[in-house]
Amino acid sequence: MKELIERALDAAERGGASYADVRVVERETEQLTVKNGALEAATSTVSAGFGVRVLVEGAWGFSSSREMHTTEAERIGREALEIARASAIAHRVPVELDATPPVTDRYRTPYDEDPFAVSLDDKLRILMDADAAMARVAGVAIREGNLSSGRETKTFASSAGAWIEQEIVESGGGIDATAVNDSELQQRSYPNSFGGQMVTGGFEAVRALDLAGHAQETAELAVALLDAPQCPSGEMDLVLDATQVALQIHESCGHPTELDRVFGTEASFAGTSFLTTDKLGKLRYGSDLVHIDADATAPGGLGTFGYDDEGVPAQNVPLIEGGMLVGYLTSRETGPRIGRQSMGSARAWSWNHIPLIRMTNINLRPGDAGSLEDLIADTRDGIFMSINKSWSIDDRRLNFQFGDQAGWIIKNGRRTQLVKNPTYTGITPRFWGSLDAICSPSEWTLWGLPNCGKGEPMQIGHVGHGAAPARFRGVKVGVGRW
Ligand SMILES: [Zn+2]
Repeated sequence: MKELIERALDAAERGGASYADVRVVERETEQLTVKNGALEAATSTVSAGFGVRVLVEGAWGFSSSREMHTTEAERIGREALEIARASAIAHRVPVELDATPPVTDRYRTPYDEDPFAVSLDDKLRILMDADAAMARVAGVAIREGNLSSGRETKTFASSAGAWIEQEIVESGGGIDATAVNDSELQQRSYPNSFGGQMVTGGFEAVRALDLAGHAQETAELAVALLDAPQCPSGEMDLVLDATQVALQIHESCGHPTELDRVFGTEASFAGTSFLTTDKLGKLRYGSDLVHIDADATAPGGLGTFGYDDEGVPAQNVPLIEGGMLVGYLTSRETGPRIGRQSMGSARAWSWNHIPLIRMTNINLRPGDAGSLEDLIADTRDGIFMSINKSWSIDDRRLNFQFGDQAGWIIKNGRRTQLVKNPTYTGITPRFWGSLDAICSPSEWTLWGLPNCGKGEPMQIGHVGHGAAPARFRGVKVGVGRW
């Protein structure tokens, strides 16, 4: 592999590149789905190859191949050069990289139990036990459970002298119960609706989820939702569970702080931002309780790594401090445009993709409002919503509507009537401005979001969001039908 990398870098430099980097990546995945007591899908994939990125006359060129040998490395290096030269003609602002020093290092996800070493039987038993527990609840039409494992081994090397080897291991799982009657369908998921909880770590994280132990209440709630009244409409105090806070962060803080999106170079997938750079240090984004960090070092986060795909070390950087906008997600190319070094959030989905600015773990710091029950007890009248069902947000990430799987009316500090199809709407800074309580660290979970799409061609992103339940005052609540 060393020779392949050296040949590619050499070809790029001899051809006139001012900078070049090579990533050799192998990604292995395994996914198991059990549906209504039967194995529905068992897929495993391995994808390996390398990508060469070069900078010529201030323009990027990129090419990639799955044929891992030295003559191919040279050919791909030259092809990347040609692409860079062609795009240099049309290029407006020449790319300038920050001064991140080249590093030689290794990083490996810490874990106890290798998810690929756990037998298929063991994995199936976990899913079948959860399925059986859901099946004991009358009225559940569709029962589903899934487990997923991933391992990415990659080597990053640059013409500046960086050499970084990483092994990222991922594990996750979750269950869904769907109840149906003549007129509608209601679903309840555990522990979230992101396809399960996924972390960087070993299979111990899956065992800790105790899917079977939560299966019955998950199924019972799906059935109960069928007969629940519709969510009332009006302005009220809103308590969100940690998973919904996580998605709220993702859509209304994570995406709009991606600096390539801010600069308009990434306009696909609802792709601009209201957080323009003239607002840095000046915009009140939320109440003074709102502290949101981009933390690629958080243990177990799905957006946790040693180095990003430009060789920048993982960092913990504030985006919102005391409610004020103080930072962005940056790359080596965009950081200097706001007078900063990259904070290390450029990642590529695979060997055949160029790195884009991707969220790391975008975390809302916990507060001091105690447990979820304490927060509800402290809320006179309002509504508690749990687990996302739908979302929509405008192009600039300003106006949004979220729907959740379940809501409960809060009356005199008590969780009372279950209601179905709850939704809430808001305008990003006003909504975060209405936040007046966040639960304590014991309620804080670092959720993994394994399906963030961005770019053209589309790249998947694995990102994380740490959150605790939180309360927002005077939010517009209503009913949605999906
Ligand atoms: Zn996303």
